[in-house]
Amino acid sequence: MQLRIVPVNGIDPAFLSRLGLCLAERFLYDVVVERSLSLSRSCLNSARRQLFLPTLTTKLLREYGNGSLLMGITDFDLYKTSQRFVFGDADEQRRVAAVSIHRLRNEFYGEDADENALFQRTLKECVHELGHALGLKHCYNARCAMHYSNSIFETDNKMPHFCEVCEKRSRARS
Ligand SMILES: [Zn+2]
Ligand SMILES: [Zn+2]
Repeated sequence: MQLRIVPVNGIDPAFLSRLGLCLAERFLYDVVVERSLSLSRSCLNSARRQLFLPTLTTKLLREYGNGSLLMGITDFDLYKTSQRFVFGDADEQRRVAAVSIHRLRNEFYGEDADENALFQRTLKECVHELGHALGLKHCYNARCAMHYSNSIFETDNKMPHFCEVCEKRSRARS
């Protein structure tokens, strides 16, 4: 199975290729980093200064959709209807996922930048969304990558992989 990672605007290519390698190793996908999708700030909700997640997934599918699994990575803050923000989301049927690194950065919380923390958090959220893309639901195990995180503390507390139960389910589905 092929996974295509689509950076939105400029995301560090070295960061993306490292991410691609880690995901390829975990999911045994053939991972490709695509040319970036340019999205101007005019696409943001002007009052919230956030990007509506369905706007992003629709654009991803329109420009890159052809059957392989798509995952957009953006620095814009994402939101969905009735949610203040989301770290990411995935649609199993349409085979598209998105992750925002906006709130995964230490700087968002007024702390010093930490590239390694940013990478680990991004990896966890990508593994989580790819789990959804495989049909996995949220897991009650707070250490499992499929645990729902609503804060950066919950993300930091998770492992960058599935618990045994979710791992078995993911194997049955992939
Ligand atoms: Zn989730
Ligand atoms: Zn689990």
